[in-house]
Amino acid sequence: MLALRWHGRGDVRLDEVEDPRPPGPGEVLLRPLWCGICGTDVEEYRSGPLFIPSGEPHPLTGRSAPITLGHEFSGEVVDVGPGVERFRPGDRVAADTLIFCGECYWCRRHQVTLCERLAALGLMADGGLASLCNAPERTLLPIPEGISDEAGALAETLAVAVRALRRGRFAVGESIVVVGAGAVGLMALQAAVAGGASKVSVVELLPERRRLAASLGADEVYAPEEADLAADLVVECSGNAVAVNTAVGSARKGGRVVLVGIYERPGTLDFLEVVGTEKEIIGSLSHVYDEDFAAAVSLLGRGAVRAEPLVSDRIPLDRALDDGLLALMREPEKHLKILIQPSVQGLP
Ligand SMILES: [Zn+2]
Ligand SMILES: [Zn+2]
Repeated sequence: MLALRWHGRGDVRLDEVEDPRPPGPGEVLLRPLWCGICGTDVEEYRSGPLFIPSGEPHPLTGRSAPITLGHEFSGEVVDVGPGVERFRPGDRVAADTLIFCGECYWCRRHQVTLCERLAALGLMADGGLASLCNAPERTLLPIPEGISDEAGALAETLAVAVRALRRGRFAVGESIVVVGAGAVGLMALQAAVAGGASKVSVVELLPERRRLAASLGADEVYAPEEADLAADLVVECSGNAVAVNTAVGSARKGGRVVLVGIYERPGTLDFLEVVGTEKEIIGSLSHVYDEDFAAAVSLLGRGAVRAEPLVSDRIPLDRALDDGLLALMREPEKHLKILIQPSVQGLP
């Protein structure tokens, strides 16, 4: 089968590889239907390895590069391993993709995103940018009736936003600011509206993304230099260290600021402002399968969050490098979520 594999920094190839082994106990063999390319994939290409093990095998998965990318995908069940009871061939599923050891201090507290041996499909094990992929049963949820395969692939992105709101202790009736209207930001906006925020404001550099945010339910949209806000909760999704100042400045006294972007560089912050205003700054990483991911699939299933407007391009697997990963690296502002169809290899 064909797989888009990370070999090293600046080295991602479409390889002919062997089909995965039959699913083991608790595993499900999937045919990925749609798979998103994420900012993390771009960072792995540009400046990795960040999460991908290269050299020493990963302590949980035993894998190291080359590794098949793709950690945001929907799939169709092809086969199930021993002991799998929730799924059968033909089922459509969304993949949470996070794997944890279940034994360490953090896993025992159900803080699985902090697992000492945390792994994810598409980074520390083979992921969804291939014709076939094995996934643990507990990372999978059925895609609700009436929800498209494409929306199923965006459940992971939505789960990141859901966790950010949860980490920020979001409550009904609160005012929210979302900084950065990329895929996660537009999901956080919609999840906040669905969750009963009194007002959701979006701060975003690009005019077309501000328009999209308004069409998806933002009460107010601002360019960064215009923003003069004082919200209960701010979610910083841009991943730009400079925007962290905008985010902290957009919280009211005693307000909370959640950082969920993947920051390439450290930045500066006025610590005295944080002290003097008693603002809280909170980190949020990924998502937890039975909390955030389940909530994300449920939000999609109820039609409370729209995923399709975030899809900026749909391409076959053999164009995933040039028109997916590299296009995102060259001109990130021109794209939002690029979806790859792993089982399709383009036109002759
Ligand atoms: Zn991602
Ligand atoms: Zn653990």
